[in-house]
Amino acid sequence: MKTPVYLDYSATTPCDPRVVQRMLPFFTEQFGNAASRSHAFGWTAEAAVEEARGQVANLLHAHPKEILWTSGSTEANNLAIKGVAQMYRQKGNHLITAVTEHKAVLDPMKYLETQGFEVTFLPVDRQGHVDLDQLAAAITERTILVSLMAANNEVGTLHPLAEIGALCKQKGTLFHTDATQAAGKIELDVEAQHIDLLSLSAHKMYGPKGVGCLYVRRKNPRVRLTAQMDGGGHERGMRSGTLNVTGVVGMGEAARICSAEMATEVPKLRALRDRLEARIFAALPDAVRNGDQNARLPHLANVSFPYVEGESLIMGVKELAVSSGSACTSASLEPSYVLKSLGLGDELAHSSIRFSLGRFTTEAEVDFAADRVVAEVKRLREMSPLWEMVQEGVDLAQVKWTVH
Ligand SMILES: *Cc1c(COP(=O)(O)O)cnc(C)c1O
Repeated sequence: MKTPVYLDYSATTPCDPRVVQRMLPFFTEQFGNAASRSHAFGWTAEAAVEEARGQVANLLHAHPKEILWTSGSTEANNLAIKGVAQMYRQKGNHLITAVTEHKAVLDPMKYLETQGFEVTFLPVDRQGHVDLDQLAAAITERTILVSLMAANNEVGTLHPLAEIGALCKQKGTLFHTDATQAAGKIELDVEAQHIDLLSLSAHKMYGPKGVGCLYVRRKNPRVRLTAQMDGGGHERGMRSGTLNVTGVVGMGEAARICSAEMATEVPKLRALRDRLEARIFAALPDAVRNGDQNARLPHLANVSFPYVEGESLIMGVKELAVSSGSACTSASLEPSYVLKSLGLGDELAHSSIRFSLGRFTTEAEVDFAADRVVAEVKRLREMSPLWEMVQEGVDLAQVKWTVH
């Protein structure tokens, strides 16, 4: 087993070797521009792009014409949110999202607020769920878009897409979902789930970085978007720019593999994740699981370790590539806004670890990771005066701390 052990598949995945094989000829022999209509180089590239469009559409139960290529989910989210806001401004100026969304949704929403739009940022409960009654009550005649992610990238909580989609359809507002973390992990069906716009990124599903797509519904209703880049009018005029043919081909192959192998891969991932959690909780029963324990991604575990200092914990498990509950911003160590939104205090947010497993994770790696974390938490606790007090039966919540 090689270290560091990679357990950060929610940050990015390696390319599946089959994806790389499929991409290779498009760097060299088949290098045409998919927009070149007058020769075979262009036709070959275009045929490959259209095959990939079909492969991604298939994963979503969409029509290939409803897939627009982008540079990733950040661009897809920006195009969906700003594109709808600008196109439907006559109808209304209100959008709805949730506080636990990715920055690639929150920041475009905040930008729109500076442009005269009103945005409702729905709160979430301890599991990371929005209250659907609260969502229904927030939708007015002026609401043009609801954007709620399929699966949260930090804690893995799944939003009930079909219910949200049905509600939006009934209320006559468009529904966008950032499904970056959900692709290949849960069933996505834009018809059954009444989704109007959906964002995906190749590098979270064993494809290359720098390519993604936006699904845009073509009928019932036909969704229109204001383009965010002006240029050659590619992608039905909604996203100009020469296509990243190699990337697109890779994303298509990645989507094909997800469709074909999800049914066998997901139970395997869930078993590995459950094994990891079981091993940690057997040794550290006071560790805290974050997120919904039922409606959640199969490959992700987010756990807080009370009475240890988060930064020391992460520094202590350098053989593991995992994410911490602290976002290192320029100046300070900020606790994750997602964990804080779930109601965790700063201490528990700081001392949390996100383990995200993937296609190439082994049992040996999972056991090694669990043992390393357990050993490190125990070592840090031995040195912690707080832990000593807890062992002596002191209720820390009742302690009055004085600062000298
Ligand atoms: C990674 C991620 C993004 C950003 O995707 P890029 O393709 O890297 O721009 C957006 N949303 C979620 C939920 C993500 O996990």
